[in-house]
Amino acid sequence: FNNELQRSEKMEIISELAASVAHEVRNPLQVTRGFLQLMTEQEDNKNKGYVRIALEELDRASGIITDFLTFAKPEFDHIISLNISDEFDHIEGILVPMANLEGGKITTDIPPNIYIRGNSSKFKQAFINIIKNSIEAFQGGQGQIDIWAYSQDGKVKVHVRDNGEGMSEEALSRLGEPYFSNKIKGTGLGMMVTFRIVEAMNGQISFTSTKGVGTEAVVSFPEFVK
Ligand code: ADP
Ligand code: MG
Repeated sequence: FNNELQRSEKMEIISELAASVAHEVRNPLQVTRGFLQLMTEQEDNKNKGYVRIALEELDRASGIITDFLTFAKPEFDHIISLNISDEFDHIEGILVPMANLEGGKITTDIPPNIYIRGNSSKFKQAFINIIKNSIEAFQGGQGQIDIWAYSQDGKVKVHVRDNGEGMSEEALSRLGEPYFSNKIKGTGLGMMVTFRIVEAMNGQISFTSTKGVGTEAVVSFPEFVK
């Protein structure tokens, strides 16, 4: 029991540290990126190749922060009742601009008073990682993501469906494996983090996907009736 306590105290310290590192590191990364970008635009730059690699590696570092730590907060294990419609308002605030930038759309249909028990930061991190993958799977300028939720038989179910590039059987079976990524700038950490969060919240997650047609994620949690 003592060991358990010590371990959870250590986890607490680690997540607190991670949260502050993530926030502190973001700004200097952005500044550095800006200057490197300026350097690539200089005409007689004989180090262009190096600068390009430096930019790619900076983007990789940002990707790790996004997949792992966007919502890492010191009160990491703070469990409250979450109104999922409020949570999705925040998520939309972040991802709708990103989807629009990529020429796509997000529509949501989330009833106003459905509750689950969980940690707000973790919940948002889990869905940001799923929806960000949908945005990154857009093909051409007609990307569409539909998000809808409902309660059914004591469970709250959230669907996220996209019309993106889809996945092969192999990719589908490897989803959630650490460092599995098909992207040049991928971290391969997003789904691992999402799967762990959903599990920690006593939820379940499943994916169906058809190559060239799209992907649908279904996440369910025990409903909390107020
Ligand atoms: P990353 O996004 O950094 O590659 P993830 O763990 O988030 O890592 O996803 C792993 C891989 O699963 C992605 O590289 C991609 O090939 C595939 N994937 C996940 N979600 C989708 C999706 N909605 N559409 C197509 N492929 C997806
Ligand atoms: Mg991802």
